[in-house]
Amino acid sequence: MKFELKPLPYASNALEPVISKETMELHHDKHLATYVTNLNNLIQGTKFENADLETIIKEADGPIFNNAAQVWNHDFYFASFTPDGGGGEPKGKLAEVIKETFGSFEEFKKEFTNASIGLFGSGWAWLTKDNDGRLFILKESNAGNPLTKGLTPLLGFDVWEHAYYVDFRNRRADHINAIWNIIDWKVVESRY
Ligand code: MN
Repeated sequence: MKFELKPLPYASNALEPVISKETMELHHDKHLATYVTNLNNLIQGTKFENADLETIIKEADGPIFNNAAQVWNHDFYFASFTPDGGGGEPKGKLAEVIKETFGSFEEFKKEFTNASIGLFGSGWAWLTKDNDGRLFILKESNAGNPLTKGLTPLLGFDVWEHAYYVDFRNRRADHINAIWNIIDWKVVESRY
């Protein structure tokens, strides 16, 4: 199977000022494109040549896992934002479970923000659910993806420096605080 670079679901400047056009072009058109190219090159002639992305993530390790997971993680990440009425709070079942689990949406937001800011080095903060619908916040280094732990990702924040350094320099916390305003909760609710 030949993987392709999935286009952004909005224009590269659509999330400004939270995420600049320059960051989007680097992040999507360069970083993600490189993961796609690397993955296609690495799987050639291996048992993963015709596998789908989730199978590769669950079964591969080393560079094949890293590039496959980064492709999945970024497609998922870019699909979590909207230039149209993003931010605010989730509704419905997800809102209820967040309240039951964390006490309130504000408390969840604080815990998820702290996980994102406190993750040492490059990686991803994830909101996930298990098969019983229980919620967990995970901190994963590098390309780490909750599918490898049998958990379903609902929301993922990329805390690699390439996600924020152009716009916020070393101020990861400012970037994290800003991206809450562009989350497409309808998409996140549909993943629950
Ligand atoms: Mn990234």
